[in-house]
Amino acid sequence: KVKTRFAPSPTGFLHVGGARTALYSWLFARHHQGEFVLRIEDTDLERSTQEAIDAIIEGMNWLGLNWEEGPYYQTKRFDRYNAVIDEMLADGRAYKCYCSRERLDALREEQMANGEKPRYDGRCRDSHEHHADDEPYVIRFRNPQEGVVAFDDHVRGHIEFANSELDDLIIRRTDGAPTYNFCVVIDDWDMEITHVVRGEDHVNNTPRQINIYKALGAPVPEFAHVSMILGDDGAKLSKRHGAVSVMQYRDDGYLPEALLNYLVRLGWSHGDQEIFTMAEMIEHFSLDAISKSASAFNTDKLKWLNNHYIRTLDPQYVAGHLEWHMADQKIDYRSGPALSAVVTLLAERCQTLVELAAQSRYFYEEYEAIDEAAAKKHLKAAARQPLALIRDKLAALSAWEVEPLHHAIQATADELGLGMGKVGMPLRVAVTGLGQSPSIDAVMHLVGRERVLMRLDRVLA
Ligand code: GLU
Repeated sequence: KVKTRFAPSPTGFLHVGGARTALYSWLFARHHQGEFVLRIEDTDLERSTQEAIDAIIEGMNWLGLNWEEGPYYQTKRFDRYNAVIDEMLADGRAYKCYCSRERLDALREEQMANGEKPRYDGRCRDSHEHHADDEPYVIRFRNPQEGVVAFDDHVRGHIEFANSELDDLIIRRTDGAPTYNFCVVIDDWDMEITHVVRGEDHVNNTPRQINIYKALGAPVPEFAHVSMILGDDGAKLSKRHGAVSVMQYRDDGYLPEALLNYLVRLGWSHGDQEIFTMAEMIEHFSLDAISKSASAFNTDKLKWLNNHYIRTLDPQYVAGHLEWHMADQKIDYRSGPALSAVVTLLAERCQTLVELAAQSRYFYEEYEAIDEAAAKKHLKAAARQPLALIRDKLAALSAWEVEPLHHAIQATADELGLGMGKVGMPLRVAVTGLGQSPSIDAVMHLVGRERVLMRLDRVLA
C-alpha cells in the first residue's frame, strides 16, 4: 500500500515550492489509492513557530490537500527517537563521541588545508578510553566504512555514494536532542512511508538516511527528489519575485484550482496537456514524469489558467471564493444581484478575483464619480437626448429582462437615427460610471431598474 507524506519545517509560510512538493506527494498517494501523512518537522526549536504551523495547515486546506494521518509533530516523538538510539548504543550500531569542539574544529581546518572534504575521522569509534560520567558527549551512528550506498531516484535516476565519503553522523547532540536526519528515518519507518517525495536539497541526506534504515533492519522507501523552482529571471524563487506564499495567491485573487493546475505542470507533464481537472491530475500523475531540470515560475501562465477556471468552474463555486474578496474590498454583495450572476457576466474579462471584485462594484454601490475620460468622450451635450429618451423607455418597460432592455436601446437609436453606440456608450457610462463593461443590456438587467433609473436621473439632472 502506497503511503506518502509532506514533512515541512515550520519556519515560515507554505511557499509555492513546498506546495508543489506536497501536491506531488499527495497526487502520488491518491493515484495509488494510498494514504497521505502530514508531519511537522519542528525539531529546530529556535526557528519553528506556531504561526508557521497554522500557516502551513491553512495553505494545505486552501489547496484541498487533505491527509489521512497527522499532523504528527517531531517534538512529540523524542521518547521514541531516544529509545531507538539507546538500543543502537547498547549493541554498538551507535557510539558515544567525546571529541571536543576544539578538536573537531582543528580536524576540520587541517582537512580543508589538505584539500580534503571535512569529515569526522572516527576517533571515538572504537575507543575504550574511560570518561567521567559528567563529561559531555554526542552519539554517532556507526556508518559502514566500505562499499557504496545507492538508490534509484524517481526523478534523478541512479545515485551512488561511496561509504568512505560519509562520516559517522551525529544522531544525538550533547544536549540530548536527536538530530534531524535521524528523526526523519524513524518517522518514515514508523509511519510506514513507501515513497519519499521532497526537495532536491535533501539528496545528500539520503545516503546517510539509507544507511540508518539498513542498520535498523527497516525497509528503505523509494525516493523522488524534486528540482527547485526559479523566478522568471532564473534566480531561486524568492520574495523578490512577488508572491511566494500560497495564501498570498489567495489574497491576489487566484483560485486553488488554478494554482494547483499551475504547480502540477511546473515540472511535470502528461503529453502536451495544460489543463487538468483534479481527477485528471490524479489519474495521470506519476513520479517518473517529473522533470529533472529546475522550472521557472511564469505568472502570465498562472493568470491564464486562473482566467480559465474563473470562466469554466461553476459560477456558484467561483462566487464562494469571490466572497472573500468582496469583503476584502468592502463591497456589500448582499445589496444587489446574486454574486454568481455577476461572476458569469464578468468572468471573461478578469484574470483574478481581485479584478472581478473591483469590477463588480457598480452592481452593489453607487459610484462616486464617473471615470473622467469616459465622461469626456461619451457624455457630451449630444448624449442628453438619447439618454433622456431611453430613460423613459426603461421606466415604462414591463419586464426588466435582457431582451426587452436590448430592444429599448435599439428603438431609441432607431427613433433618433443614431448608431447603437451613440446610445449604448452614454448609457454604459451613466449606469456603470466606466467606459467599459460587459454588454450593457446584461449589465442593466443585473444592476436593476431602480438603480439604473436613479443613475440616469443623476446624469440628466
Ligand atoms: N523538513 C524538510 C524540509 O522542510 C523535509 C524533509 C523531508 O521531506 O524528508 O525541507
